[in-house]
Amino acid sequence: MNPKTSVLIIYTGGTIGMVENPETGVLEPFNFDHLLDNVPELRRLGFSISTMQFDPPVDSSEMTPDLWCRLVHIIADNYDLFDGFVVLHGTDTMAYTASALSFMLENLDKPVILTGSQLPIGMLRTDGKENLITAIEIAAAKENGVPVVPEVCIFFQNHLMRGNRTSKISAENFNAFRSVNYPALARAGVHIQYNANLIYRPQLRRPLKAHYLMDTNVVVLKLFPGITPQTVESILHIPGLKGVVLETYGTGNAPTSSWFVDMLREAVERDIVIVNVTQCSGGSVQMQRYDTGYKLAEAGVVSGCDCTTESAIAKLMFLFGHGLTPKEVKEHMACSLIGEMTLPEEY
Ligand code: ASP
Repeated sequence: MNPKTSVLIIYTGGTIGMVENPETGVLEPFNFDHLLDNVPELRRLGFSISTMQFDPPVDSSEMTPDLWCRLVHIIADNYDLFDGFVVLHGTDTMAYTASALSFMLENLDKPVILTGSQLPIGMLRTDGKENLITAIEIAAAKENGVPVVPEVCIFFQNHLMRGNRTSKISAENFNAFRSVNYPALARAGVHIQYNANLIYRPQLRRPLKAHYLMDTNVVVLKLFPGITPQTVESILHIPGLKGVVLETYGTGNAPTSSWFVDMLREAVERDIVIVNVTQCSGGSVQMQRYDTGYKLAEAGVVSGCDCTTESAIAKLMFLFGHGLTPKEVKEHMACSLIGEMTLPEEY
């Protein structure tokens, strides 16, 4: 007899893990040891489901690179014991965690599916049950004995998205996440329909290599009309700063004022890596398109192409964390490591 497909659910915290106390009506964190009693529907899936939880669970606005490492540890330590992993996470920083995990879990060949919900799992109109059940089905899905989605993904309201392509777009709607620059890997309707040709597959099966070193000497600098030299100057002179995600306008445009361009050039000369990503939710940086972008390229700013801010900042932390030189970081920022960006020649 085939052993049952096994899935490990890791509850980190967030809205999904709340239930209403039947006596007081108050929302309380859920005890995941009793998951199967509280969500009896899971028994009907026929999988062997185990659970672990962060103690204490954290609201995802408290997420840190150290907690990403804790998650990586749990996945790495249990990697051979389970067919897939479901990470229950608050929605607020889920896209950052998914991006970070995609870099930290090198050679991943099993599904790691993050999900959460806008309403607690214990509430009548919850979106949590649907998200949880489908995330488990995806984490368990195999074809010819091989996992269907060997990637770090976010599943939310019927859409399975590549984790490092995703951003939170709504604090209200059930469809809280979007992957604008990369199509959904699967849609869950009556059936779960996978887009097999969009799913990342490792060329060679190699043992999982878990990474734990993240360097937080990075910053996001978002441009706005009226930004002052003092603001830019003080950010670019943060002691120890190594990398900047520069959120520019449109296709990667920024003011051409000499004070601004000179400050960026001078920072690049001090070996700070500056990556240009767009503030738009969709589309790509093309610094050769307008003079306003071209000036940045001339100053030594690297194009982040169509990377999300979440993914660009996690990638900088990961690359600097592994001791790469600024030159090597620049080279790696210009390549896609794990499907996080579309290179210009792929358009
Ligand atoms: N503040 C919560 C969190 O991100 C919201 C949620 O779970 O959706 O942890």
